[in-house]
Amino acid sequence: MKLILLGAPGSGKGSLAKKISADFAIPQISTGDLFRALAKKEDDFAKEVKAIMASGGLVPDEITCKMLKERIEQEDCKNGFILDGFPRTIAQAKALENITSIDSVILVELPFSVIIERLSSRRTCSSCGEIYSATDGKLENCKKCGGKIIQRDDDKPESIKHRLKVYEQSTSPLINFYSERLFKVSNDKSLEETYRPVKTFLKNLEEK
Ligand code: ADP
Ligand code: ZN
Repeated sequence: MKLILLGAPGSGKGSLAKKISADFAIPQISTGDLFRALAKKEDDFAKEVKAIMASGGLVPDEITCKMLKERIEQEDCKNGFILDGFPRTIAQAKALENITSIDSVILVELPFSVIIERLSSRRTCSSCGEIYSATDGKLENCKKCGGKIIQRDDDKPESIKHRLKVYEQSTSPLINFYSERLFKVSNDKSLEETYRPVKTFLKNLEEK
């Protein structure tokens, strides 16, 4: 099963992708996670990527597509995968069509006002990427791996605004691009409730 999770930053794509990945035994491929790993290196290229990400802008399509292609050519992707954060532009979607074919696109919907609230209070483990909320009290270390908990540079107010603008301008046109393969779900409830209809939909898709 080859899937795309589409949705604004902070809509909850990543959390949903983790559940799908566990239930359907396909890897979650987050281009954001791949870029964050890359940005930890010391060379000039890594620094450039890090600066783009901190501002909330997009890494150029050419670099992103090359990285994605290399990732899905790996052995663990041969039975399928979930793309989380890719494609983010029409150019990326077109490039993807030359790499592989996608079975379905899941659109995660959430009002921008809720997204801004959630992203502003989001905290992330700098080692494993586990997500926490500042509203749960101050946490210094990750419960899973002991890593340091931080606020991502792009979860600061100015970057959040910019990311939502970029989503509206560059990514939301993909909703039309994929209109025939789109399954919509609203993430204004708990993750469990959001996931339920998605799971049913994917079970049916799997049986086809
Ligand atoms: P979120 O969905 O919460 O904004 P991600 O972890 O998906 O965050 O991505 C973080 C950053 O990584 C983006 O703001 C962007 O700079 C870069 N990035 C991730 N995926 C892509 C992509 N497909 N194309 C270009 N840049 C990307
Ligand atoms: Zn951790």
